[in-house]
Amino acid sequence: MKKIWIGIDDTDSRNGGCTTHIAKTIIKFLIDDGFDLIGYPRLVRLNPNIPWKTRGNGAISFRIGLGAGYKNKIGEIDKSEIFCFSRVKKSSDLTKQVDRIKEIILDVFKDYAHVRDINTNPGFVILKDKPSFDVYKKGVRDILYLNEIKDIIKSLKGFYKGYKNSRGLIGAVASVAWMTSKDSTFELITYRSEEKWGTKRLVEDESVKNIDRLYRSTFDNYDYKNKHNRIVPNSPCPILYGIRGDDAKDLIESYSLIKSEKVDSWIIFQTNQGTDDHIQSKVISQIKIFQSVKVKGRVIVKPHTIIGGHVLFTISNDLDEKIDCASYEPTKQFRNIIRELLIGDVVEVYGGVRKKPLTINIEKIEIKKLVDDFIKIQNPICTNCKKHMKSRGKNQGYKCLKCKTKEEFAERRKKNRHLNHGFYEVPVCARRHLSKPLKRYK
Ligand SMILES: [Zn+2]
Repeated sequence: MKKIWIGIDDTDSRNGGCTTHIAKTIIKFLIDDGFDLIGYPRLVRLNPNIPWKTRGNGAISFRIGLGAGYKNKIGEIDKSEIFCFSRVKKSSDLTKQVDRIKEIILDVFKDYAHVRDINTNPGFVILKDKPSFDVYKKGVRDILYLNEIKDIIKSLKGFYKGYKNSRGLIGAVASVAWMTSKDSTFELITYRSEEKWGTKRLVEDESVKNIDRLYRSTFDNYDYKNKHNRIVPNSPCPILYGIRGDDAKDLIESYSLIKSEKVDSWIIFQTNQGTDDHIQSKVISQIKIFQSVKVKGRVIVKPHTIIGGHVLFTISNDLDEKIDCASYEPTKQFRNIIRELLIGDVVEVYGGVRKKPLTINIEKIEIKKLVDDFIKIQNPICTNCKKHMKSRGKNQGYKCLKCKTKEEFAERRKKNRHLNHGFYEVPVCARRHLSKPLKRYK
């Protein structure tokens, strides 16, 4: 056994804790014990629509062995530099050290996992081989069950430890199954020292705007319209801030420019954030609850605002299948885009489905076709009698009372539409971890 995979999930709770923090601690202890990281540690977001997730539904996995090849600095923990290696040494052999590795993980779990929290069900897994990529795909797009996960671990002759209902094992295995070769991004996460946990964070907004402008490969840093510093979490977890981007080197430079309270430690994770991996292309009748979909349709019910400020409309396809779409209040200015839609417009909607009746919570929308919008000037004038015609009722056209000539439309003028063809997305403050920002489309 030259190298092994470790997967961890569901160690956090709503009152603090954080799976990335536990992973970072385990990584440090393993490195202190003589093991090396092979490749970046990975933060893998899973299906965001599952109701029983803790917070961001992110699981961690990483590979250890004896390192060789290129060496990349990826963090600093307790004043020592953390590196990852491009490959494993030929002489690497962990066969006799698995018990030691288990012991290290169990110790960290004992100290930091929020096992007592009612919704926290931690788990970790040690695997010699990666599970099939399909396991990840199911974990990010649909629902994985514990039984199938235990079967997978068994078939790979892996070791696992689950606490309470062991649900954390699901994310732990799905995270190991992820492949970075499809599409991936990075997040540099900084942590606070333990005595600061739960207190107000100090991260200067101006310095965040500065890196946002300087490094175009970073994303979701700052929401200018809503004055929201997105790199800072709002839960009481050990994270100080996290900078996301396409280029790990740019993240390290950005980190050096952020002005904040003292950073205790930092580490870079490779992630599936910002990749749209959760989205599946569907026709309306195939859509199931808890999925995230991309679906095309024609607007058949005009957007209308309901209590709470949520904006709803309905789309339909040629088979007369219908589904509701929503832009909820937290999507702020995005609702004004949605309100501009008219009956007949053709759109492709991207978003998660959580509610019954099925409703798509829109993350972004592509406007495919816009209908003409007219404003009425006056009733049409009869060409024979030169008199105004009379309306025959709503949408029933006009008729001259004298000579009975009919006319379908009033005298009207084309109105400007305030929408263009192409994509619109929710503001940074409302962005889901997995949603691919339009900025990444090139
Ligand atoms: Zn007439």
